Amino acid sequence: MKTAESVSCPVCSLRETDFHSSGYDYLAASGREFSLVRCLGCGLVYLPSGPEPEAAGALYQAAYYRKMRGLSKFLETLFLRERRRAVERFKKAPGTLLDLGCGTGEFAAAMRDAGWDAAGVEPSPAAKENAAGADKIYRRDLPDLKFPAGSFDAVTLWQVLEHLPDPARYLAEIRRLLKADGLLLVSVPNINSLQAVFSGDKWFHLDLPRHRWQFTPETVSRLLVRAGFRIREIRHFSLEYNPFGWWQSLFNLLGCEINFAYKRLKRGSVRKDSPAAKRFYTVLCTALFALPLLPAAFILSFLESALRRGGVITVSAEMDGDGNER
Ligand SMILES: [Zn+2]
Repeated sequence: MKTAESVSCPVCSLRETDFHSSGYDYLAASGREFSLVRCLGCGLVYLPSGPEPEAAGALYQAAYYRKMRGLSKFLETLFLRERRRAVERFKKAPGTLLDLGCGTGEFAAAMRDAGWDAAGVEPSPAAKENAAGADKIYRRDLPDLKFPAGSFDAVTLWQVLEHLPDPARYLAEIRRLLKADGLLLVSVPNINSLQAVFSGDKWFHLDLPRHRWQFTPETVSRLLVRAGFRIREIRHFSLEYNPFGWWQSLFNLLGCEINFAYKRLKRGSVRKDSPAAKRFYTVLCTALFALPLLPAAFILSFLESALRRGGVITVSAEMDGDGNER
């Protein structure tokens, strides 16, 4: 059914949509249902009304930003190296880098260790208590920070663009902040990935209603091009996000409590109102299949990457034109 939305599509400005799919909020106890629509102009899938800006941050518990130890710490080191390499394929240190939505600032800190003059922006108060290298984390919204034009060689957004109430406004500001030969790196979940299509509303990276814009390689590219960028590369493999996306989605599909293992690993709270039988099944299933499903998750991630249908994609872009018009 065709609907006219109150907001226009950030990619193509059209207001006409049809129904795409629905899913639940698996993080909040309320478990509300949300409907995603698809823009009839460009195909962007989105929530027609996002959470209120002040509620969006509150949806995350401080546990979301908790510091890692042991095995998690080792994995985090691997993931940070993968992120650094994604930047350094195009830009080498030394240089200035801004990581938007930096959480506790681990990536900015790792880039400083690698010779970058790196800073982060994180307005969410929940991230504050565990902040790493807090001296270089700005605690305000990007447009309020008023950095001088052309301040940065690289700007990164790891799983951030899909959360922003007004992504076009941020991209315009990022374009102003980048040097003429600057690099923009955007990593977002891909609603057209194999893991998304296979898992439906059980897909780990769907994360409604926090992920308002459910991008595909095509829609995120169009958004960036419209903001004055040129796409250099789209990568479909992410060690950090894709095997885990498959692994957790497979448990979700097996009838386990949604994202149970993720919540345990993050040491956040799991649902207290879960029926005992369901909890028993979830714990048993996770214990039995945690290891056997790991190779499957990796194989599926390599497969979807080879088919260019990756669960989380990383888009590298540069300024289109010389930036003089800003
Ligand atoms: Zn559109």
